[in-house]
Parts: sequence; structure tokens; C-alpha cells
Amino acid sequence: MSKTKALGPSLPFFKKSLETMPRAQRRDYLERKLRGIIQHAYRHSTGFKRLLDAAGRSPGDIKTIKALEKIPITKKADLVELQKKHPPFGGWEGVPLHDLRRIYVSPGPINEPGEKEYDELGWAQAMVAAGFRPGQTAINTFSYHMVPFALNMIDNSLYRVGCITIPTGVGNTEQQVNILRTLHVDAFCGTPSFLLAIAEKAEEMGLDPGKDLCLRVGLVAAEMVPETLRSNLEERFGMVLRQSYGTADIGCLGYECLEKNGMHVPDDKLVEIVDPQTGKQLKPGEVGEIVATTFNKTYPLIRFGTGDLSQLSVAPCPCGRTSPRLMKILGRVDQVTKVRGLFVHPGQADEVASRHDPIARVQVVVRRRDHKDEMILRVELQEGTFPAEPLKEAIEKSIRDVMKVRGEVQFVPKGTIPAGAKKIDDQRTWE
Ligand SMILES: [Zn+2]
Repeated sequence: MSKTKALGPSLPFFKKSLETMPRAQRRDYLERKLRGIIQHAYRHSTGFKRLLDAAGRSPGDIKTIKALEKIPITKKADLVELQKKHPPFGGWEGVPLHDLRRIYVSPGPINEPGEKEYDELGWAQAMVAAGFRPGQTAINTFSYHMVPFALNMIDNSLYRVGCITIPTGVGNTEQQVNILRTLHVDAFCGTPSFLLAIAEKAEEMGLDPGKDLCLRVGLVAAEMVPETLRSNLEERFGMVLRQSYGTADIGCLGYECLEKNGMHVPDDKLVEIVDPQTGKQLKPGEVGEIVATTFNKTYPLIRFGTGDLSQLSVAPCPCGRTSPRLMKILGRVDQVTKVRGLFVHPGQADEVASRHDPIARVQVVVRRRDHKDEMILRVELQEGTFPAEPLKEAIEKSIRDVMKVRGEVQFVPKGTIPAGAKKIDDQRTWE
């Protein structure tokens, strides 16, 4: 029997009372937390006070999730500018400086105030949902330097779950393989690409990752894991791999349970999906920007715009958790464009590509001709497949189904779409 199956259908929780709250109770719970953090931030964070005052609002105006719409969204770029003006934190710290334990520095650069006691739930909930159990030994292969992720968030969460942590950090792949083997490591925290590097190194060293190593569970973050890579890694190691989503500033915003059908929003975050242009909340199923609010009193980011696109599902999950789920991450907000009045986003281009095996790469090009929008899907085909009219028609039908706008397929030779090219190339110029 494989170790994957041995994990069984029983699904423990990290904080069952929170994770299984009925929907109305969850809303009351979150709104109570929201009112608390708004009052706290207004009183202690000069950055938030400035923002709310400039919007002509007072803390009393923000009592419900819906009322959050009255607060302007703060983006990462805004934080960078604010920190230049009001160092070191742009006024966003929610406690006096002498009450900090650490100062983190994340790419941006952004300084982040670090709390004395880490008490957030998200990553611990993610670990338990992925199958981490007390007494297991885990390697934490995220970087321990500068940023809060490995040192504060993941390390502390492993401790809270009851796991023993080996703080390996990134790199030293051969040494990591030896550690996995000699210390009988059960659990992995890191990026999917680093887990792949470990698998390859182990094989290079003459080991069979499934037999000679005993990894049972893994929580990956920082990059989304494609399904083909996930099943490859799960089979190679005989492990369960679950992914999570979050940012260094605000922590965990979503984690997969064993059902693997989207990422549950943790109970200590408030996640909205908003129209990137108006900041208004969208309904479940609609695609928009992920905007998050944390209840962290040391660093009370409120309506922080992640710049990532997704949609929420509120359909019941068989695991018993009642929180909404972030579905796939569908690309970046700055890559969203409107074609004939409809939003087109990079995730849709990927969806179209995934429906046709012969497709190797795609790129959407939007142009303007005779004062009309024109959308072209440039398609590179896999080695050994050739452009044909029926394939062109089939892809064009998928474009209509997925994107809801008409687009023309243009086959291009392999290598035409440059590496790192934007998924959506908007070539329109407006006079
Ligand atoms: Zn679930």
C-alpha cells in the first residue's frame, strides 16, 4: 500500500471550532475581528490613520466586510513609496518600535515590523490540512535570511503543529538529501521546484526517493505547482503534496486540503476578490484581484492588494472546512486587459492552451484595427505537430468558450514567443 493511501480519509483540523464554523457564524466572527483591528490600527498606525482620514472615513464607518469597500486599497508599490516618506515602515507598524522583536526586509525593498510572539493560524492550518502531524520531522527549505517567511511564519507554525524542524534553508541539495535520509525526515516545506531538485539529486546519488527516503507530506508555497509536476513528485516520493498561497507581507491567504479543490482561506485573514479598476467586491466565481486584511496588531495591513488574480468558491468542501476557497491564481492584475469591454486575463490563455494537447505555448496579442479591438492568440505547437485548419477552428472555439470574446488563432514557429514574454501583449495605443 502506498504511503499516500495510508494517510486515510480522516481529516484532523488545527482549530476545528474555527475551521468548521457555519457561514453566518464565520461572518460574525470575521466582522468582530475586523472592527477590532480597524480600531487598533486607527489608534496605533499613523499610516492607516492617514489613509482613512484622507478617504474621509472614521473607524465607526467600517463595521462590516461590505464596508471595507470604503477603504482605498494599498498596493506593494504604495508601501515602498510610503516607507521612503515615513521610514522605516511608512507608519504601518501597529506597536511602538521598542516592542518589535525583529525587522524583516523583503524585496521591494519593504521593511516589515516583526511581532514578539507569532500567533497566526494560517500556515499551521495549511500544514495540518496537508497531513502534517505532531511528532513528524520536517525540513524547512525556505530562506531564513532577511524575510519573515521561513524564520517566523513556517518555523513557528511547524512548532505550533508539533513537528520537529530542521532549518535547512535553501540550496545544498546533496546535503539536504543526506539529511532526509539519515534523519528520517517525514515532511517537506519549500518550493515545488526545489523539491524536484531534491528528487533529481537523490536519483543522481543512486537513491530511489520513494524507497530510500521517507517523505510523507509536503507543503509548497511561493510558486504554484502545475498538476503534472505535483503528480510526478507525489509518485516519485510516495508522498502527499499540497500547495498554499500567501505573501511575505501578510502571510497565508489560502491552503489546499486533501480534497485538492482550491485553497481554503485561513480564519485569521479576510480575503476579498475585487474589480481591479473600481475596488468593489465581486461575487463568488467572478475573477478579480485578491485583496487581504490581516488581524495582526503589529503589522495591521488593511485592504492590501496582492496584485494576483483569482476567484472565490463558497461551495461546500467535503473536508468539512467551511471557509471560502481561492481557486487557481490566474495571473497578475497588471496583465488584465479589456477586449471589446470584457476582461481578459492570463489564466484564460492558459486554460485555452490546456484544452489542446498539441499546444506548446501561447500568447494573447490585442490590437486595434479600424477602431475595433482585435484579439489574436499566437500558438506555438509541440514538436512533431503541424498547423491544420480543424485544430485552428477547435482552438478558436475554446477561446470563445473560455474568454467569451472572439479571437483568431495564429500559428507561429517554435521560439517566436520570447521566454518571459507577457502572456497578454496589449499593443493598443490610445491617442
Ligand atoms: Zn477542504
